[in-house]
Formats: sequence, C-alpha cells, structure tokens
Amino acid sequence: MVSAFSLACSACGKCCNSPPSMALPELFRHRDRFVGCIAIGRVTRRRAGERVTFGAHYHVLDDADVAAFDTLADALLHRSPLLADQSFSIATQGFDYPSLACCPALADDGLCAIHTNGKPSLCEAVPLDPMVPDSMQHVVLAARNASSAYFGANCIREGEAVQHGEGCEGTATASNDAHVRVHIVTLVANGRVQDASAQEAVQRRRAQLALDREFWGRTVFELLRGELFDSPVALARIPADGYLTISLVPALLAVARYSDACRVECVAYIDSQLALIERNVKHALQRRRPDDRPVTRELRAFADAYAHAKDLLAHPPRMSDNTAPSAARRVESWLRAR
Ligand code: SF4
Ligand code: SF4
Repeated sequence: MVSAFSLACSACGKCCNSPPSMALPELFRHRDRFVGCIAIGRVTRRRAGERVTFGAHYHVLDDADVAAFDTLADALLHRSPLLADQSFSIATQGFDYPSLACCPALADDGLCAIHTNGKPSLCEAVPLDPMVPDSMQHVVLAARNASSAYFGANCIREGEAVQHGEGCEGTATASNDAHVRVHIVTLVANGRVQDASAQEAVQRRRAQLALDREFWGRTVFELLRGELFDSPVALARIPADGYLTISLVPALLAVARYSDACRVECVAYIDSQLALIERNVKHALQRRRPDDRPVTRELRAFADAYAHAKDLLAHPPRMSDNTAPSAARRVESWLRAR
C-alpha cells in the first residue's frame, strides 16, 4: 500500500456533507447554527494480526499498532469491566436532517461559513482521523481517496507534495468545479503526520475529546452504564457500524453541577437550542419529505428533554461535595473558550 499522501485542499466543501463531531465548547460557540447531540459508538479492542479495513483498504495490525490504539482508547474512550473487548465513544456532535446532505455551516458559495470564526477542530484535522494512530493515517487517506466525498475533489494524492507540483503548488477542483491554484502539503509519510498544522489539528482534537471525557463524559458513561453498556441486550441499541444519538441533556446536567456560572451557561444554551430546533422543524415541515419524519420526531424529543432540563436547572443545584473551586473555574473557562 502507498504510505505517503499529500493534500491539495481547495476548500471546495465536498467533504462537508453532514454536521461534524464537535466538542461541547464548540457547540456552545455555534449554538445558533448546530443542534447538538451525544453520539455513542462501539469500538472493538484491536488484536495483533487483525486485519483492519478502511473502505476498500486494509492493514494487518502488529503489536505496536495495537499499543497505539490502546493508548488512544485509554485517553479518549470508555471501558466497561464487563466487556473486556469493547470500548465506547461518547462524543458531542452536530445533528441535522440527513436528507439535506450538508453541514449547516456550509454556505451557498460552497465555503465554510465559520472557517475563520471557530471552525471545529475535527474539520481542521480532516481528512486525517484523530481516532486512528498517526502510524496508520496513510490507510485512512487511502480509503478516503476512494470515497465519494473526496472523489471529484481530487485533493488527496498519492506520494509526497514535491512529486505533484513545482514548489508544491498545483491545481485542485474548487466548489464551482473550476480548477484553482492551491498549495500542496505532504500530510503523511514514513508512518508520521508530516504537516505541522495537520499534526497540531489532530492533537487539538484529541485534547478536546480528553477534556470532554473528563468534564462530562465519565459522568454520562456511569449514568448510562446499567441501562446501556453493561447489558448485551441493551448494547444492541448501539449500531456496530454507526452511532446511537441521544439528547445532549445528560452532558449539560453533568457540566451544570460544577458551578452556578456553568448552570447559567447551560440554561442560555438550552434557550438557543430550543429556538434552533423550532426553526429546523419548521423548515422540514415545509419540505414535506417522508424521510425527514423520524428526524423531526428525534428533534422534538430533544426539545422535550431540554424543556425538562430547564426546569431542573431553574435553581442552583446542590454541588457535588468533591467539586473543588479550582475544578469549577477550569470548567467555566473551558466552556467559554472562544
Ligand atoms: S473535499 Fe478535499 S478539497 Fe474539498 S474541502 Fe474537503 S479536504 Fe478540502
Ligand atoms: S463546519 Fe465548516 S469545514 Fe466543518 S463540515 Fe461544516 S462547513 Fe465543512
């Protein structure tokens, strides 16, 4: 398999076909644009000798690969002692009607409307996958190079940048399908992410996931454990190759317990989300698409959960005895990060 890939991104928006995963502070920042939810996924523990497939490509894992996956899982995922071979991802993300096939931040000109104003860190890392060890990012790129979102964009290229253009400049397909001049960078080579800003974006996304896990993810995992993670029957609710989406409310209730300032931030977020859900449902009803109906039902359930949470958060909650003021200050500044 080719082990070096470069990227010639023209910001064409072809890979922006759904709302991205976003850390909770990113959702707070873009509260009027993205409906937030929690996405729960299953991740099977890797074994040496296992063949891992990414699209049509595969890689046979060795001990070092397994150790790298385990390191990421220990830092970013959740484990149930009853299921030794499974981890669970619990992450916040944007939620929208799949029939729109478009991220809510994608503007009419095909460009990201928040590119210079809080673009989600996962989008900065794309087309790399922060949940995959750096040593295997070439397999991710090989698969994405053949996927429909990137096919037509002609942005992922085999080999290092210098092979593609004099001075690493070249052409790529823009949002209007015109050919435009772009800077080409070597993304991965020699088992490493080579481009410094791509490496920084991957690390930033992993750091965000670790903070989400620390500030609300563990609490939500424990909350849902009996009902979802410790029972093989309940586990079937989590698709093997997708996500179970639930309301963001358990994460908000976990964060609101840190301090009164956090509680006030969560209530303000809920108000914005209720207004956004109302607008999105109204537009869906005008579209009259039968395949929108299950999503409308889910959005209405989110709205009901938010209304209930607002009642719960009407008064300052009794703080957890072990919530130190310094922890509360950390969460407040994390939540307000802009
Ligand atoms: S499809 Fe490729 S060129 Fe277009 S925005 Fe995504 S990464 Fe950039
Ligand atoms: S936030 Fe911007 S870069 Fe990310 S998927 Fe949406 S439009 Fe694309």
